[in-house]
Amino acid sequence: MNVILLGPPGAGKGTQASRLVETRNMVQLSTGDMLRAAVAAGTQIGLEAKAVMEAGELVSDEIVDGILSARLDEADIARGFILDGYPRTAVQAASLDRLLGQKGLALDHVIELEVDEDSLVDRITGRFTCARCNAPYHDRYKQPAGAGVCDICGSTEFKRRADDNEEAVRTRMAEYRAKTAPILPHYEAQGIVWRVDGMAAIDAVSAAIDAILEGGD
Ligand SMILES: [Zn+2]
Repeated sequence: MNVILLGPPGAGKGTQASRLVETRNMVQLSTGDMLRAAVAAGTQIGLEAKAVMEAGELVSDEIVDGILSARLDEADIARGFILDGYPRTAVQAASLDRLLGQKGLALDHVIELEVDEDSLVDRITGRFTCARCNAPYHDRYKQPAGAGVCDICGSTEFKRRADDNEEAVRTRMAEYRAKTAPILPHYEAQGIVWRVDGMAAIDAVSAAIDAILEGGD
């Protein structure tokens, strides 16, 4: 079973991908991880990627394709893979099709985690974590039991990510709508697109994804 998880940043793709790895022993393919692994392994294409990144430039689609292609040749791919965060554009979707075709692989499901933009802004802009133990909190939904004191470790210092602000969330959302969402019709034509409410509780989202993987065809 091979799956793509799509959705804007903050929709919970990474969380759901990790759960599929745990519960179904699937292989999670994130382009960031694959790039780092190729650079660390010092492969030809890893060295190319390293040079590009050190020059402060974005890694090209050709390099990502090369790295993905090599990764898809590894034996564990037979357990089924989850692509999370790729493809992001129509060009990447087309080259992914070619790549899979060459290797005799196919996608079974494309699952989009749908979000409501205002609710996503609300969810992301309120979050903060303990500076010492990283316990997660939220301004409106999960304040520490004792004001200003971490429930887990007792620290009184907390931190927020700089890009967890409304403007940044709306920019990421607009980018997703403009570039990534347009690849969906390509997969709709193949009849493999499913939509799941990404604003539901994490367990409910997992259950919906499980139902697709169990019964969907
Ligand atoms: Zn703490």
